[in-house]
Amino acid sequence: MYDVPIGVFTSIDAGLGVNFEVVCELGLKSIQLHTPRRESRTPAGASAFLYKLWEHGIKITTIFLGFEGESYETIEITSQTVGFVPPKTRAARLVEAFEISDFAKLLGVTYIGSHIGFVPHDRRSNEYAEVVETIRSLCKYLQKNSQALTLETGQESVQALLTFIDDVACNNIYINFDPANLILYGIGNPIEALKLVGRKVRGVHCKDAIATKGTPGVDWGQEVPFGSGEVNAEEFIKTLQKIGYKGALTIEREIPEQPEKQKEEIGAAVNLINSIKIKIND
Ligand code: MG
Repeated sequence: MYDVPIGVFTSIDAGLGVNFEVVCELGLKSIQLHTPRRESRTPAGASAFLYKLWEHGIKITTIFLGFEGESYETIEITSQTVGFVPPKTRAARLVEAFEISDFAKLLGVTYIGSHIGFVPHDRRSNEYAEVVETIRSLCKYLQKNSQALTLETGQESVQALLTFIDDVACNNIYINFDPANLILYGIGNPIEALKLVGRKVRGVHCKDAIATKGTPGVDWGQEVPFGSGEVNAEEFIKTLQKIGYKGALTIEREIPEQPEKQKEEIGAAVNLINSIKIKIND
């Protein structure tokens, strides 16, 4: 019986994902949360939010790191602004990630997700060593809080991501698999990639996309509702079942400028996933 929870990528006061109120309206019981702003990450903020979660019977599976100054406007801007790769913000963001980990602990959350940024390609470069060392420090900090790190897929091939994970050499580093990102960044077939990294997957995003008609890796593809792009939603979920993934199927839809459409499309994705689960269990 394949009966894993359906979740949605959510925010409460900032960042990516759908607003928390919409999750309640849709009656979903599982979320990944994009980290709240610094001023909300207090013990009082955690208590108030825990009460809301309890009221609605919602469980947080992962808190995603997010930092001021990050922008996904173009692939080039993403590489300059997102995660721990840009050197100017690296040290401060590491400290902030520790704070977010402590906040997540107050909420009882054990997985911390991260877009770490575009990992440098040359494994012998100083830059690569510095990024490895930064992520190792983060993993060690998370270990003290009994937490694990999940790296979002997309910016590099999954082989490169596995090599990076091996180089970090910590036992609490895994993958949050976003199949649409592989298409958006022009990396390749998400189902084949999922089979390669199966043992490392601890979270997923049910997101979809169409590849760019321009230059892959330079021009963005287009994000589309789950099930209407090139991911092959049914094959994706069947493959997750085959690799033994038992975590939540977390829907991600990033069109905050169209909240009504966003809510409707998340609802449609829930129906689609339920219909695929029925087929799997038939
Ligand atoms: Mg994602």
